[in-house]
Amino acid sequence: MRVPTTIALAALLATAARGNAEPQTRPVTTAPVATAPAVEPLPRADVLILPLHAHVLSAPGRPDIDCALADADLARVLGKVNRVWRPAGVQFAVTVRREPAADVARFDRLWAAAGPGALGAYRSLAPPATRDLPGVHVYYVHDLPVNGVYLGTRVCFVKETAALRPVEGGIDEPVPRVTAHEVGHALGLPHRQARTNLMASGTTGTAFNEAEVKAARARAKATEGAMTVPEAERAADAAEKAGDAARVASLREALAGAGEPP
Ligand SMILES: [Zn+2]
Repeated sequence: MRVPTTIALAALLATAARGNAEPQTRPVTTAPVATAPAVEPLPRADVLILPLHAHVLSAPGRPDIDCALADADLARVLGKVNRVWRPAGVQFAVTVRREPAADVARFDRLWAAAGPGALGAYRSLAPPATRDLPGVHVYYVHDLPVNGVYLGTRVCFVKETAALRPVEGGIDEPVPRVTAHEVGHALGLPHRQARTNLMASGTTGTAFNEAEVKAARARAKATEGAMTVPEAERAADAAEKAGDAARVASLREALAGAGEPP
């Protein structure tokens, strides 16, 4: 099936320039900003634990959507996302969900219409049954016109083929950085075009400043499903008693990530 037209792509890129989407080749046009000192990592007791649902979308016959990330890839990528977010005192209790893309026909209709905001068409691919679970949602697809996009209401899309411009001290792999960046939007952070920070467009930077830490933590705390460390410990114990091994593993990994910073 044919997907985007040239006209659609032009409209999308125009939208991307205004919104939170990241054209992967977008030049940094702002003047270089002095690298802010790294924030002091918060102590374990202050870490907030937030559910993160990683939806790996499958779509037979649609190589543009069908995501090939393996379990080992997801474990590596999401482990890196947690390491990026540890200085901000936020850790994610990750659940990986392998799901068929929901409404590809609707996606194609919206995509063909290609009005402003057409990246919103991707929302059609989110399976309704898991869409409203508490926490942040990241949908992985093969390709997008941008590296990733935050669509609002805690919904991010990230392409497995993301590419970034390396900066000093940056992360060694694009997909974790794009994921961590889009999650930053989900936690209320706007772009900030300092080269080495997480909220710069299209670079491998992962740094936060104090204002970003404060804002993201406030949003995380107000998000349904957020837990303090003691609450997450109690939830893990309860899940163990209930025999929910997957939830135990997800919470324990987030708690391990919350461990005292070196
Ligand atoms: Zn962005």
